[in-house]
Amino acid sequence: MVGTDKEGRKDETAELALRRGFMWQAFEIYGGAAGFYDYGPLGALLKRRIEDKWRYFYRREGFYEIETTTIAPRAIFESSGHLESFIDPSVVCNRCKSVFRVDETVNVNTKCPECGGELEPSGEFNLMFQTRIGVSKSEGDEQAARKSEGYLRPETAQGIFINFQRLLKFNRDKLPFGIIQIGKAYRNEISPRKSLIRLREFTLAEVEVFVDAAEKNSHPRFDEVKDRKLRIVPREGEAEETSVGEAVSRGIIANEYLGYHVARVAEFLESIGLPRAKLQFRQHLRDEMAHYATDCWDAEFLSERYGWMEIVGVADRGDYDLSAHASSLNIDLRVRTESGKIMPHVIEPSFGIDRIIYALLESAFYEEQVGKEKRKVLRFKSEIAPLKAAVFPLLNRDELKSKAREVFQQLRDASFFVEYDNSGSIGKRYRRQDEIGTPYCITIDYETLEDGTVTVRERDTMKQVRVPIAEIEEVLV
Ligand code: AMP
Repeated sequence: MVGTDKEGRKDETAELALRRGFMWQAFEIYGGAAGFYDYGPLGALLKRRIEDKWRYFYRREGFYEIETTTIAPRAIFESSGHLESFIDPSVVCNRCKSVFRVDETVNVNTKCPECGGELEPSGEFNLMFQTRIGVSKSEGDEQAARKSEGYLRPETAQGIFINFQRLLKFNRDKLPFGIIQIGKAYRNEISPRKSLIRLREFTLAEVEVFVDAAEKNSHPRFDEVKDRKLRIVPREGEAEETSVGEAVSRGIIANEYLGYHVARVAEFLESIGLPRAKLQFRQHLRDEMAHYATDCWDAEFLSERYGWMEIVGVADRGDYDLSAHASSLNIDLRVRTESGKIMPHVIEPSFGIDRIIYALLESAFYEEQVGKEKRKVLRFKSEIAPLKAAVFPLLNRDELKSKAREVFQQLRDASFFVEYDNSGSIGKRYRRQDEIGTPYCITIDYETLEDGTVTVRERDTMKQVRVPIAEIEEVLV
């Protein structure tokens, strides 16, 4: 994970994330395996905070969350088209035999990124991990073998589509409605090289909105988002700064439902602290879209190391998935509406949580010179910072330590995630917290024992204020 880029610059964010226990390569003591990461104590906290904010954000839309399995039988992916179409072309180096996924930077016309050798086409790979469900004696019996074949889901969406009838009933047979799901997805990526960006096991947070195609152009809350400004990169034409309302009325974004969700994605990403200036929405080229999509916009983050990278995909999946399952199973999944029976369309914002975490770490990281020292800071928004505060006794004296422990326990009891630290100088303790993005440090000194006040120091401004113990909780916003 910790490496240098092409110019030989050390990846400071990755170094910090590893050193302070945000994340590390999985199976480290066994030598690791490409494309797998574990989240450590601070990383897991940060991830939960983002997921919780996401849940709350979509709850406001009235969407319910469900939880479906991560393994599914072959038939599901046969119907969904993933068995046939979820594939990546690859090339192999004729010298070092490394295999790469074909993209803009690696293809038969370029040299091997590892050794400079010639690259040759090496076929197409299905990205799904295969497994067996149960122990059946299927040798020689192809039908039995197929029946026991299972796959780890490459997206959470299929779990929602195949439960459509039950979900529709739950929604009292009415459209539109939305369902959300957060969970692991698995893709056997050909070249998973870039830390949290191309993983083989990752977390998706997906929203599936079912809507009558005839209503796609009249979202009841479109007015709330229409003035939101976005940098968009349409398939045809130049990148521009425009409002969602205008992009929809000029036909650049296909319909109000898609526009509404693109705008909400932008709002969510900004709400967790990604800078607006580092976000854009890029429309997929026709030959770039997934097999199920009729239109797709990627929310991209401008990474200092990797350039523009996709962090969320917002797709109009049309009626592709429901029609595919209905036709495989020979069942009717259409919904009765006033104008007859229709097959609902699906608008899908699909958030890659790990890439969002990478983007947050990279954009929150900040270094400055304070006196003789370098101060490293993760400028997380207070709501997503792993710890809310740290409590210090100013000096290593029993009377200060016991008061500090008391304040520490009071904050814990009030459900704040706080740390107690009495080792090293106060300056060192501040730096330790700055590095992991803790927004507040609370110091107990002799004045505390006299008048019951403490100093609360804010991470970004380093300003300190005196606050009565009883009021600390109000300051920790
Ligand atoms: P997709 O279904 O391919 O549009 O993916 C949805 C989102 O999942 C993307 O916007 C990425 O943020 C994320 N994602 C896709 N593939 C990977 C991967 N191999 N590792 C980490 N995140 C991924």
